[in-house]
Parts: sequence; structure tokens; C-alpha cells
Amino acid sequence: GDFAEEVDTLIVGSGPGGYVAAIRAAQLGQKVTIVEKGEIGGVCLNVGCIPSKALIQAGHRFHDAQHGSEDMGIATEKATVDFSKVQEWKAGVVKKLTGGVEGLLKGNKVNIVQGEAYFSDKNQVKVSSDEYNSQTYKFKNCIIATGSRPIEIPTLKYTDRVINSTGALQLEEIPKKLVVVGGGYIGVELATAYANLGSEVTILEGEKRILGGFEKQMSQLVDRRLKKNGVTVETEAFAQSVKETKKSVKLTAEVKGEEKTFEADYVLVSVGRRPNTEELGLEQIGVDMTDRGLIKIDKQSRTSLDNIYAIGDIVDGPALAHKASYEGKVAAEAISGEASAIDYLAIPLVAFTEPELASVGYTEDEAKEAGYDAKASKFPFQANGRALSLNDSEGFMKLITRKEDGLVIGAQIAGPNASDMVAELGLAIEAGMTAEDVAMTIHAHPTLGEITMEAAEVALGLPIHIK
Ligand code: FAD
Repeated sequence: GDFAEEVDTLIVGSGPGGYVAAIRAAQLGQKVTIVEKGEIGGVCLNVGCIPSKALIQAGHRFHDAQHGSEDMGIATEKATVDFSKVQEWKAGVVKKLTGGVEGLLKGNKVNIVQGEAYFSDKNQVKVSSDEYNSQTYKFKNCIIATGSRPIEIPTLKYTDRVINSTGALQLEEIPKKLVVVGGGYIGVELATAYANLGSEVTILEGEKRILGGFEKQMSQLVDRRLKKNGVTVETEAFAQSVKETKKSVKLTAEVKGEEKTFEADYVLVSVGRRPNTEELGLEQIGVDMTDRGLIKIDKQSRTSLDNIYAIGDIVDGPALAHKASYEGKVAAEAISGEASAIDYLAIPLVAFTEPELASVGYTEDEAKEAGYDAKASKFPFQANGRALSLNDSEGFMKLITRKEDGLVIGAQIAGPNASDMVAELGLAIEAGMTAEDVAMTIHAHPTLGEITMEAAEVALGLPIHIK
């Protein structure tokens, strides 16, 4: 029937934005209903962050089993990979997490509704569970967290062999040859995983370098490692068309002005993501959008309608899970009347490449543009005992401080475990710490964390392990 059900806080989408917002809102005493048309956990848990990291890890294990330990005197007779088992294991990881999230939602008394939400006015959504069934929900406040989907290039329409990241994560075989269109972090991560699993991989990037979101010094390290591992990287390369046969696909591209063709089992198109904001009825209820289809929000994630909030990939800023979750908490707290506000300064950016890349706060150039008299202090992984004993010592940390008082305002890391190491510097920025605070903190020996301490000592002009 279509008698409206009255709810307190309604959340649309259960990705890392929506489910975190739901839990925080429930913790603060709101009665929460969450609507999901697909799978609990959204892109991140089902077809994004988690399965991609699982596949990357499988790639590392296989690659190490084959080559990784020769200089340590460790040889393997013959390493093999059963890809259906890899996929099974990966699905198990995803299931544990999505099941866990569902349990947490229920444990917090969040009402889960399966279906697609559409706004019929500023206090009401219609949720269709199938062609014939719909239910209207009247809400006091709403948080929209509908996420994003891969962009499709008209001349490279998705098929069985022209695939997006979701397809690439769900392949049933390891491609013999894989062409990746787009050298952003998603493309390079998946390229790395499959190269390590044995695919012959070519990356086509339109710009002059891959991983343009990171500093050149950092992306160059990844570029070199990819090439060392047999990956072909073509820059200033624009994919133009594909011709598909039953067993393969031929891609034509313009590479530095010259036409080239590439044959592959699969072409992965990874050229960015588009916000899911078109099919929600938002224009007719008066939610303001940018011309890129993003929803405009204020410091508390509130849209132009004061009872409707938007978070995650559908609003401006980096399309990342932890950003979605952070905005989700702010929105839930704002609904409860708290003074929480978004501050993007210390959002880490991470690429799970080889080596891993991570950046938080300002880069040297950004700091200067923002008017800081900034100083960059560099420390190499080569000079760290732990990195050497891990047999993984390529990379550096760059600490950005304000010259006058040593205030930590940014950091860039390229090297093993950069993804974890960046957390300490995010905290230093949040807490308003100086290089001296970081340098005076005792770090266990031998750990990669000492690199952070020593980069801070470089800032003070007093490093112990480099001259
Ligand atoms: P989503 O996770 O996209 O969830 C939105 C949900 O809303 C979906 O479940 C969808 O079904 C639902 N929905 C949409 N419309 C409706 C509707 N009308 N009614 C009901 N439900 C609806 N980020 C990182 O931080 N780290 C990583 O390592 C990382 N790796 C990634 C790897 C890949 C391959 C991809 C594709 C992405 C990766 N990301 C990563 C990005 C990350 O997945 C997204 O930033 C994140 O999922 C965004 O969260 P969200 O809550 O905004 O939306």
C-alpha cells in the first residue's frame, strides 16, 4: 500500500558514506532508516576499495613467490595461481565485511529498506522495491549518499571484453593481455594486480604522466617500477576505438600523435567516475547542483534545502571512502544539532601502487600557493634499517613545515606501508604539532615510523642517519 511511513532520519545509499552516517545518527539518538537499491556497503566494500586491495595482495604474494626473494637466497620451484580460488577468497573477505556492516546497522536499530529511492518532495521519498511495489517515506531529515559509477566513453562502450573496474575485479581468468585506459590510481592499482598475477599489461594515459594526483617525483617511482615489472606505459595516449572479436579486442589509440593498435583479451576503461545524482528527482525539489552534477553543500554537508544533506562521491572533493565516512559523521552530528563542520585539510590521499604513495595536507607547491613560507624536508627509505631488512627500501618521505615555527602542514610518502605511515602525519597536522614535537616522539626501532621522526629531524637540521 502507499500510506506514507513516517521516519526521523532517512539515508539513501549504504556505502561508506551512508552506513557510517546511519550508525552515527543512531548513536546520537535519531531513529534511522537506510535505503539501499544494491548491496549493503556500496561501491567501496563490494566493488571498490576492499576487493581491489584483496586482488593487489594476491598479486603481491604470487609475484613474491616467483621473484621477490631471489636476492635473499629464497627460491620457489614453481609458484602457481588458481584464480577461481583467489576470487573465492576475495569474495569471502567482502562478505565478512558487508555482513559485519549489516550486523552493525541492525545492532544500532537502523531500519534497512531494500529499494530505489526517488524524491517526490522535500520531505518525502518513494522507494520502489520492484516494478509493482513502492512505499513512501516521510522524513524529517535526509542524508543522500548515492555514490558514483564509472564513466563510459561513447567510442569504448562496455561489453564482455571492454570492461570497467567492476568487471576487472570479477574476471574469471587472468588476462594474457590487458590494456588499461586511464592511469589514475584505480587503473594503476588494477594494472599492478594483474601484472603481478602474470598478465602482459599496457597502460594508456592521456596526460604526460600517470598518477597526476600525486607529485611527479612520486609518480615517477611507480612508473619506473611498473616498467621494471614488464608493464608498458604509454603517455599522451588517447584511446579511440575498439574492434571486438569473440576472443580478443583490438584497440586503436593515438599515441603522441601517431596511430597505434593494441590487441588484448580485455580492455579496462578507468577514466573517472560520475556522481549518481540524475535519477533522484533532486532538480524538481530544488536541490542546487554544480554543472558537473555534484550536489552543492555547506560546511555541515547541508544542501540548499535545510533538512537535506549530501555526502561522499556526489559532493565536491576527492572521491574516497574515508572522505565519504567523515562527511557522513558530520552530517549526522549536524542533524543532532552539534557544531561539527567539515575541514578537508588533513584528508589523506593514498594509492596502493608499487611503491605505495600517500599524501596529506599541503604539498610544497600547494603550501607556497596558499601563502606559506614552507620548507620541505626529505628522508630516504634507504637510510632506514627496517626498510632495508624488509628488502623494500625504495622511496622517500617529504615533510612540509612552516618555516617560522616548524608547524607540520603536509607530508608526502612514497614507499612500503606509506598508506599506514601517513596516519601519524595526519594526526600531527590535526593536533597542530611542530617538527620538534614529531622529532622528540620516541619511535620504536627498527620501524618504518622512524622515517617520520627522522624527516622531522631533517626539518630541524639535525638528522642522525643521513649527512
Ligand atoms: P558508494 O560507495 O558509491 O555507495 C552508494 C550506494 O548508494 C550504492 O550502494 C548504491 O547502490 C546506492 N544507491 C544509489 N542510488 C540509490 C537510490 N536512488 N536509492 C537507493 N540506493 C541508491 N576509496 C578509498 O578511499 N580507498 C581506496 O582504496 C579505494 N579504492 C577504490 C577502488 C575501486 C576499483 C573503486 C571503483 C573505488 C575505490 N575507492 C577507494 C573509492 C570509494 O569506493 C568511493 O569513494 C566510496 O565508495 C564512495 O562512498 P559513497 O558512500 O559516497 O558511495
